[in-house]
Amino acid sequence: MSSKRKITVAYGDGIGPEIMDATIKILDAAGAQLEYEVIEIGEKVYLSGVTSGILDSAWDSLRTNKVFLKAPITTPQGGGYKSMNVTARKMLGLYSNVRPVQTLVPYVASKHHMDLVIVRENEEDLYAGIEHRQTADVVQCIKLISRPGSEKIIRYAFEYAVQYNRKKVTCFTKDNIMKMTDGMFHRIFNEIGEEYPHIEKEHRIIDIGSALLADSPERFDVIVTENLYGDIISDIAAQVAGSVGLCGSFNIGDHCAMFEAIHGSAPDIAGQDKANPSGLLNGAIMMLVHINQPEVASKIHNAWLKTLEDGIHTGDIKSDYTKQLVGTKAFAEAVIERLGQMPSHFAPITYSKGKDHDIKVFGVRPMVAPKKDLVGFDLFLDGPNFKADDLAAFIQSVCGRLTLKMISNRGARVWPNGIPETFTTDHWRCRLFGGVGTTHQELIDILQTAHDKGYDFIKIENLYYFDGEPGYTAGQGE
Ligand code: NAD
Repeated sequence: MSSKRKITVAYGDGIGPEIMDATIKILDAAGAQLEYEVIEIGEKVYLSGVTSGILDSAWDSLRTNKVFLKAPITTPQGGGYKSMNVTARKMLGLYSNVRPVQTLVPYVASKHHMDLVIVRENEEDLYAGIEHRQTADVVQCIKLISRPGSEKIIRYAFEYAVQYNRKKVTCFTKDNIMKMTDGMFHRIFNEIGEEYPHIEKEHRIIDIGSALLADSPERFDVIVTENLYGDIISDIAAQVAGSVGLCGSFNIGDHCAMFEAIHGSAPDIAGQDKANPSGLLNGAIMMLVHINQPEVASKIHNAWLKTLEDGIHTGDIKSDYTKQLVGTKAFAEAVIERLGQMPSHFAPITYSKGKDHDIKVFGVRPMVAPKKDLVGFDLFLDGPNFKADDLAAFIQSVCGRLTLKMISNRGARVWPNGIPETFTTDHWRCRLFGGVGTTHQELIDILQTAHDKGYDFIKIENLYYFDGEPGYTAGQGE
């Protein structure tokens, strides 16, 4: 029986095949014990009519091999195509996306010094992809943040910090605005943080956090954040460190792991032998550690550092230290020539067996279910020609025991006491409140009357109290 570890590989789109070829050549030359099972994903699959970008048979390979080395893919615009990256992360339960970013000055030019790790939540947030067009004017995307999902990623970040002897974990949210979703993420960060007294904790609002990350990244160590913020800040960090082409990442869950570059398929330079394969190579190095081939991982990492020190650079990292500007293939050959050599400026890397990515603490915390009381409804209506006062009069005529608390348009209160400066669209929300004891039947009766009178209700959000606390936010100006 072969002692080689079988992994699933996808060559991807754009620069994907070039950087995957380069990476596999380096892996093989370094003596990685790997057997590759290649699956087809991405553009070709999309254009054959499969909107997920991945064939059912590919899932079998991923579920059997459990380790996936993936080149970037192109998601076609529009047409109902879903991002295969997002699908793979969610279907395989890869809840944590870990993106280390280090500067390599002076060989890779950067104004900063940084050595940080972004731990990005990988399954939730606006990436749930729940979007609807509700009226002629208004579309929506639902942001879902769950308590278990937040607990898992935040605990992962703290455990990662412990494993890697990192000193500080910073949480980025926008909870001054999104009080329910980001507010919960921040609260859970505070709760779990208490279990790690030796690690410094910090919270930053995402806007100033991103600005500080671009301006003084050395102040950060581990950053944990939600899916969209994590996606954006990891490109910022990588670019500030020198190039998006440098950074690799791993996506990990309880069952499988996926290793990739952080960048996309770069169609602007595809097929030109210009792409830097370092991002995918760094993903592959993390993969070798994950599958317990740390010596090969160290050998490749050191040869890669030596290549950069020797001034052998791809175009994206060209600097005063560049001695030889090379393409993808020649860069890979230069790394291969240096296998077995150590860097002299950078500290040599020695990975150890089994330590990395072996963090297993991510059960869901036991939670006492809160008491949940229905207290009212937000009733959304499509009304291109509505006037707030007329709509209020209608709703008050049909709402029975419930009280109309306010009407808002795009979140801004327009009744009572609306002001003419507020711009309105065709998307109206009427907040009906009945207090504890409110029933669904009361809503059904209102909807029936509204329907009979020709009103187009487009959605309902139930209003609940949880343990007596409102499970909804006030409208702006309410
Ligand atoms: P991109 O990351 O592909 O490219 C952004 C810029 O960085 C381009 O100028 C590109 O030339 C450069 N660049 C990226 N990687 C490089 C490398 N290895 N070497 C040198 N230069 C590099 O981002 P984009 O242009 O916004 O997206 C292109 C496509 O990639 C889109 O279809 C997008 O959906 C997809 N995408 C895929 C992934 C993934 O598969 N994980 C991630 C992000 C974007």
